[in-house]
Amino acid sequence: MAGIQRLVFASANAGKAREIQALLGDDVELLLQGELGIESIEETGTTFAENALLKARHAALASGLPALADDSGLEVDFLGGAPGVHSARYAGDNAGDQANLDKLLAELKGVPDAERGARFRCALAFVRHDDDEPVIVDASWEGRIAQQPAGSGGFGYDPVFFDEASGCTSAQLQPFEKNARSHRGKALQLLREELQRQGLLPAAAR
Ligand code: IMP
Repeated sequence: MAGIQRLVFASANAGKAREIQALLGDDVELLLQGELGIESIEETGTTFAENALLKARHAALASGLPALADDSGLEVDFLGGAPGVHSARYAGDNAGDQANLDKLLAELKGVPDAERGARFRCALAFVRHDDDEPVIVDASWEGRIAQQPAGSGGFGYDPVFFDEASGCTSAQLQPFEKNARSHRGKALQLLREELQRQGLLPAAAR
């Protein structure tokens, strides 16, 4: 099967695009959908995988190229899995990271550590054509919600996501440490292995 040469990433996030370029290797040209004039679509799915697939199919249809999309978020056990697919807009449609984080800590006020279990999840969807059989992978990172924020790295809920293995929050980890254990890092690794298995990426791609 012919390898992938050009790929549209259905996101406006240049930081994520850099991570994905590193995963795919230099033989694959990664284009952000915005560069091709493709608008983002509403994320109407009820699962991370559904949303990733919606975005990938939309980008493939609009561009005529293979497309990749991701969708991620935080699930908190005490809140029955919320904020989940609504993580980016937990405190309202135009809410920023700080407002979302403040709302989360308020919802968990007084809840002991033992009941603050949580996980980040990330789904990635790849399609060669919009009506193609997709490749979907999904990975998670288990932790708990800290009582107070700590650290200044990362983004989103990182300052309150406590990783037991390293004994600190995700925002206190160096980027390479976070990538090695994170939901997104693990999902990217799984995707690379699957694309290599299908002969769409060379085995040596880094
Ligand atoms: P999206 O996949 O870019 O739509 O991210 C959804 C939301 O989930 C983000 O806005 C963050 O609030 C949260 N999120 C996803 N991944 C992470 C992460 O690695 N750290 C912190 N927050 C994250």
